Amino acid sequence: MTPSVEVYAAEARRWLEANARRKAEARAETVWGEGSDSTAVFHNLSDAEEAELLDALREWQRRKYDAGYGAIAWPTELGGAGLSRAYERAFAREEAAFETPRSHEVLGVTVGLVAPTVRAYGTHEQQARFCPMLLRSDALACQLFSEPGAGSDLASLATRAVRDGDEWVITGQKVWTSGARHCAWGELIARTDLDVPKHKGMTAFLVPLDLPGVEIRPIRQMSGGSSFNEVFLSEVRVPDTLRLGDVGEGWKVALTTLGFERAASGGGGGGGRVGGSWTQLLGLAEHLARTDDPRVRQDLARSFIGYRLLVLNAQRAQALARSGTPGAEGSIGKLFWTEHMREVSGVASRLLGPRLAADTGEWGTFAWTEHLLGAPGYRIAGGSDEVQRNIIGERVLGLPGEPRVDRDVTFREQLRS
Ligand SMILES: Cc1cc2nc3c(=O)[nH]c(=O)nc-3n(C[C@H](O)[C@H](O)[C@H](O)COP(=O)(O)OP(=O)(O)OC[C@H]3O[C@@H](n4cnc5c(N)ncnc54)[C@H](O)[C@@H]3O)c2cc1C
Repeated sequence: MTPSVEVYAAEARRWLEANARRKAEARAETVWGEGSDSTAVFHNLSDAEEAELLDALREWQRRKYDAGYGAIAWPTELGGAGLSRAYERAFAREEAAFETPRSHEVLGVTVGLVAPTVRAYGTHEQQARFCPMLLRSDALACQLFSEPGAGSDLASLATRAVRDGDEWVITGQKVWTSGARHCAWGELIARTDLDVPKHKGMTAFLVPLDLPGVEIRPIRQMSGGSSFNEVFLSEVRVPDTLRLGDVGEGWKVALTTLGFERAASGGGGGGGRVGGSWTQLLGLAEHLARTDDPRVRQDLARSFIGYRLLVLNAQRAQALARSGTPGAEGSIGKLFWTEHMREVSGVASRLLGPRLAADTGEWGTFAWTEHLLGAPGYRIAGGSDEVQRNIIGERVLGLPGEPRVDRDVTFREQLRS
């Protein structure tokens, strides 16, 4: 018998009480000068600190999974609890009141992007092997999509996979791969056919990152930290059993993963997952005694409206999500989120002025540089703001599409031109 959502939430609360520490009063974060003043969007950690954080997160994910809370809305045959999303949301609401390890994008990619893509496209054997392993975070996985010459126009990617008997030989370069250094697997899209139009000649693979020929190099970000990487592949031999989906189906596989990514960053009410919250912004204005200034009040009101829109849109997206595969509406949520971050950065900059230029050691002031330098990253990651607008225009509003001159041209011809 499935318990009601209320009974389930009460059980979850009891489990959380036994396994985690309840957060201090929610207002604590706004007590000026107390605790962390981080507004960071990305981690600024050393490799060792990042590995430590991921270990703690994975430990928590495993504990939840083993208790039936790690994959609540997944079918039981794939390691889930077989319940609806209402139960998943109920657990998330309860969990939010407890101290848990700080999030890391690579766990989100593993559990929220790669695992459901394997569920959508994997063979029965692949689903049985990978889904529980990824959902429990026994292995972490990254997204090997972007290349130096293919980002917004991902379908122009040039990494080649050439069939050789029961194997594929993969050669090329990926870039901006979040978390690759900490991952055992990558979901990779490669070109397998040059003689069809670009969208039709790609295939997806699950690639073990410890194979000979894989080299991962960190990229240092302007916000500090090096959460993403370049990944070089030199004649990496991958068995055909690790092909994800049919040959030539790589574009559909990639779009599915990207759909999960947009839904997660916007539909999940993204703003709560990174620093630079509305409450922090209000705390800053209060500390600087600027809340009587009419221009500041307008700024704060606009930011609050942005924050509320983000939350309401996330609720709407959750209510609409009938199937497991998100639609183009995820782009609306992602755009709301990045617009809100831009707004928050702007208001913080106007409030702080020169205090942003030099670290005087004053709590809660210079720390906003982390937000300013990190926020633009999410206006690019997972498809830039402009690309989200194109998707909304074409697929939500039904506006005429962008001119696509290469639709009927083979990739080989495109290379020559
Ligand atoms: C923090 C972060 C994490 C990332 N993590 C990953 C990852 O884990 N795996 C992965 O594969 N990739 C990852 N990426 C890469 C990301 O997907 C690409 O950077 C993104 O798709 C943009 O591609 P690009 O950088 O090649 O820019 P380009 O595509 O060259 O775009 C340059 C500019 O042109 C604009 N533009 C391009 N095409 C159009 C158009 N049709 N209409 C209007 N404007 C357009 C863009 O909006 C942008 O402003 C990450 C990026 C960031 C910033």
